[in-house]
Amino acid sequence: MSPSDTDSELGRPVQLVVADEDEHSFSLQEEALERLLLREAVQDMSVVVVSVAGAFRKGKSFLLDFMLRYMYSHKQGDCDSWLGGEDEPLTGFTWRGGCERETTGILAWSELFVVDKPDGSQVAVLLMDTQGAFDSQSTIKDCATLFALSTMTSSVMVYNLSQNVQEDDLQHLQLFTEYGRLAMEEVYEKPFQSLMFLIRDWSYPYEHPYGLEGGRSFLEKRLQVKQNQHEELQNVRKHIHSCFSNIGCFLLPHPGLRVATNPHFDGRLRDIDEDFKAELVNLVPLLLSPENLVEKEIGGEKVTCRDLLLYFKAYMKIYQG
Ligand code: GDP
Ligand code: MG
Repeated sequence: MSPSDTDSELGRPVQLVVADEDEHSFSLQEEALERLLLREAVQDMSVVVVSVAGAFRKGKSFLLDFMLRYMYSHKQGDCDSWLGGEDEPLTGFTWRGGCERETTGILAWSELFVVDKPDGSQVAVLLMDTQGAFDSQSTIKDCATLFALSTMTSSVMVYNLSQNVQEDDLQHLQLFTEYGRLAMEEVYEKPFQSLMFLIRDWSYPYEHPYGLEGGRSFLEKRLQVKQNQHEELQNVRKHIHSCFSNIGCFLLPHPGLRVATNPHFDGRLRDIDEDFKAELVNLVPLLLSPENLVEKEIGGEKVTCRDLLLYFKAYMKIYQG
């Protein structure tokens, strides 16, 4: 069996982009990327890239593991009980408690999922995990570069935030979309596709209810450009609207204290609050159900896995150059 055959049976996270925090540089793991995107079965298929991006320790991997459960259940033809058993530990992208920092970079799941869309076409779905901290002057630029790369290569960017959308979060978003725009050769009307703000531990459901509809009304308010607003605040908002073809927001409740604080928590459903699970069941299909999958497009053209590899390489060159 060749290595790529074993990979396809046992999925695992693979590092695509690694940050060297001392050197303030990034490197693309070209071999890993090639192994992923040049697999015979998928290389000429249109690719759907769903990226979950944000700071460390905010439940990205936890969410991605449920996304994996969804994809694997559907692959096996089981579309109803994808959430899993009550006592089944969660596996996939490594996740763990504690406050220790992990590496900055982009990870992907080693398996691309082939999905039949309702229109009869087949697409390959790639899940990515992008993380870094905008916590000091020296990391802001690095992270903007990394997040830009992730935004440029994804069809849906899930911007994972805790509790609220802070002004800082918007400024960082502006920064990395600006970096992204600069790196793209042609000037497109809207350079990026979908942006989904995902607010974790939302605690004002009486103001804006959990889910997509509450998220929409919350975001509308948060991204509103007002006459009497400081010009800088106005610009951030206009900029964000000008960059993405589609912007959404989803409000997710707190998963419960066992998830957030118990060091022995292993991801089993029994320990997760009902409210959270009820919303998770809405969120994941919104991102991944066959009818909702959005193919990656660049300049209005659908991109295959093979093309995506070239784009990754080209964008990386720009940042290194
Ligand atoms: P990542 O670093 O963003 O990938 O975060 P992880 O998925 O590794 O989760 C970090 C910690 O937060 C773990 O202890 C999880 O159990 C916990 N966690 C996961 N989802 C949530 C959430 O929505 N809210 C809170 N408060 N904690 C969460
Ligand atoms: Mg993680």
